Amino acid sequence: MRNIFDLTKEELEAYFLEIGEKKFKATQVYEWLYQKKERDINNFSNLKKEIRERLLQDFTTFFIKIEKKQEDKLVKKYLFRLYDNNFIEAVLMEHDYGLSICVSSEVGCNMGCSFCESGRQKKVRNLEAYEIVEEILAIEEDLKTRIKSVVIMGIGEPLDNYDNIIRFIKIINDAKGLQIGARHITLSTCGIVPKIYELAKLPLQINLAISLHAPNDELRNKLMPVNKVYNIGVLKQAIRDYLSVTGRRVTIEYVMLEYINDSEKEAHELIELFKGMNIYVNLIPYNETNHLEFKRSSKKRLMNFYNILKTCGLNTTIRKEFGGNIDAACGQLRGSMNEK
Ligand code: SAH
Repeated sequence: MRNIFDLTKEELEAYFLEIGEKKFKATQVYEWLYQKKERDINNFSNLKKEIRERLLQDFTTFFIKIEKKQEDKLVKKYLFRLYDNNFIEAVLMEHDYGLSICVSSEVGCNMGCSFCESGRQKKVRNLEAYEIVEEILAIEEDLKTRIKSVVIMGIGEPLDNYDNIIRFIKIINDAKGLQIGARHITLSTCGIVPKIYELAKLPLQINLAISLHAPNDELRNKLMPVNKVYNIGVLKQAIRDYLSVTGRRVTIEYVMLEYINDSEKEAHELIELFKGMNIYVNLIPYNETNHLEFKRSSKKRLMNFYNILKTCGLNTTIRKEFGGNIDAACGQLRGSMNEK
């Protein structure tokens, strides 16, 4: 049976038409679920009893459970238990512009990036759209607050779970749903090129971030196995085409790994690769984990790299850090749970 949080408003409208009801009932259901935050269909008081009964027959309202929560000043990390006893994580960050949440897109990940904790734990399954929606709803309910922006940068490769991710985005972006503006939604991918082309065609004004992490194929092949399928040349062409179709600036993410990808040589290669393109580079301080030998770049090497990019005209920022004290590396909390 389908979960009620899994339907886009259009799907819910089609459902109501199919059962011989007016389609505006979909809006009413959306208002209950996403604005009044009422999960019990019995309490949808502006719907007739027979419609409520029909909904109860046709849909579940199963909700993910908060299993564990870790807090630091500006960050809260949640571990959720799913219906099949799998675990996923989401992280809430307090920015000066409001609350933002980093959601997981899959249970585990198959991309196998060598520096990433999630890559150690193979993908178990896709997340359903409703499960990702509920990551947000559960945190909003726990904190009695509203989340303003969403980054799809938690565990998993969103473009490897494409259909569910697009449905998720439509649900949270809906004007009668959670009303999270497309410009406040960022999808981060390791570079599944055919799906970047598909994404470009959708009328969704979301932000795209590409995890590049290396400016040449030799190094990127070592760090990110996906590069053997879609190399930098192919990925760069996809970014170019995405820019020309959407007109929206793309973010290039670059995790700073000491003595691996943080020398002046790589900085200049990065400039060569992207000069003149409408991108900006986000340098990410690496979160070290116990299991992997990679080290975070020293402040000095980070600043040197940053200054070279800036001086040569690449828009560059350094990612603000959250949650150094609380297993913040992607997949660490889930990893510690699964090892128990
Ligand atoms: N699969 C998607 C989204 C999830 S990973 C992607 O690859 O973009 C989110 C980002 O965190 C990626 O840029 C990833 O390379 C980076 N990352 C993974 N492990 C990290 C760590 N330990 N410290 C800092 N960033 C990390």
